Amino acid sequence: MPVVYIVVPCYNEQEVLPKTNKRLLDKLVSLIDSGQADEKSRILYVDDGSSDTTWELITRFHNESPLVSGLKLARNAGHQNALLAGLMAARESADCAISLDADLQDDVEVLGEFIKQYMQGCEVVYGVRKKRATDTFFKRFTAESFYKIMNHLGIDIVFNHADYRLMGKRALDALHEYREVNIFLRGIVPMIGFKSGTVYYERHERAAGVSKYPLKKMLSFALEGITSFSVRPLKIISNLGIVISLLSVLGLLYALVSYFAGVAVPGWTAIVASIWLLGGIQLLCIGVVGGYIGKIYSEVKNRPRYIIEAYLDKNDSSIPYIKN
Ligand code: UDP
Ligand code: MG
Repeated sequence: MPVVYIVVPCYNEQEVLPKTNKRLLDKLVSLIDSGQADEKSRILYVDDGSSDTTWELITRFHNESPLVSGLKLARNAGHQNALLAGLMAARESADCAISLDADLQDDVEVLGEFIKQYMQGCEVVYGVRKKRATDTFFKRFTAESFYKIMNHLGIDIVFNHADYRLMGKRALDALHEYREVNIFLRGIVPMIGFKSGTVYYERHERAAGVSKYPLKKMLSFALEGITSFSVRPLKIISNLGIVISLLSVLGLLYALVSYFAGVAVPGWTAIVASIWLLGGIQLLCIGVVGGYIGKIYSEVKNRPRYIIEAYLDKNDSSIPYIKN
């Protein structure tokens, strides 16, 4: 039986956590009782620098049940880093780790299915949502476009798979070797390789509280994903440069012809227009290049991706799980 760590990143989730904890505990207990998971399995909440009572709640759950562990980050490091921190902590004691959101959007009922596929030899199991009926049109449209753009840019990500996934110890060890600061797990995990499986699930509505991913965060997340894995935007820029140069040769020919035909007027409009156009395109291109340079900058600094403030886990003190 595998030791399963269920890793749950939490950022200001005090409204939903009591509900989540009950659901997950019930599920974990039934997995243990039915012999699908070892007694040393844990629910590991990662408090991503919350400013509400999230950590107090986690501490309370931990005191109430030996099956609950908690990891507190010193400040808000972002969803991906919180997830990574949890996975790396799980790597110490678990055979496999399953990550899911704190808001119960990821269907808890299919947890057993993940473990089953792991037992059948899958080192990575992706949770893929069946349809997006509970999402607003806007969220669905932006999210699905994101996957499509990513695939067009040659980035290997699993369609409609978020961060609901199981990773075995070997995959976690491999993930540990990826030292990049701008971490985008959906892109990195397929890069690791190993045999993988898929579990389909219904995505529910957030059980309580509000989304911690406002549009601004979503956009920067998408951009992060693209620039972390693809240099194709840089190529697009060069191609754009070539096209514009060709066009300007045509423009020059036109200007020469009209000059010799004697119909050239002081072309104020054309000049001003082209200055703006070119200026705009140049700024855009510099911006994209700057984005990559910024990335190099933060990778070169090689700062820690998260700082751990506290870790509560009873696998250290070996308190036995009591069957009820
Ligand atoms: N989250 C986090 N740090 C952040 C933002 C979000 O750990 O800076 C967690 C959040 O608590 C939740 C998960 O990431 O468990 C997904 O966030 P949310 O449900 O708000 O995103 P949505 O489902 O709306 O895209
Ligand atoms: Mg959510």
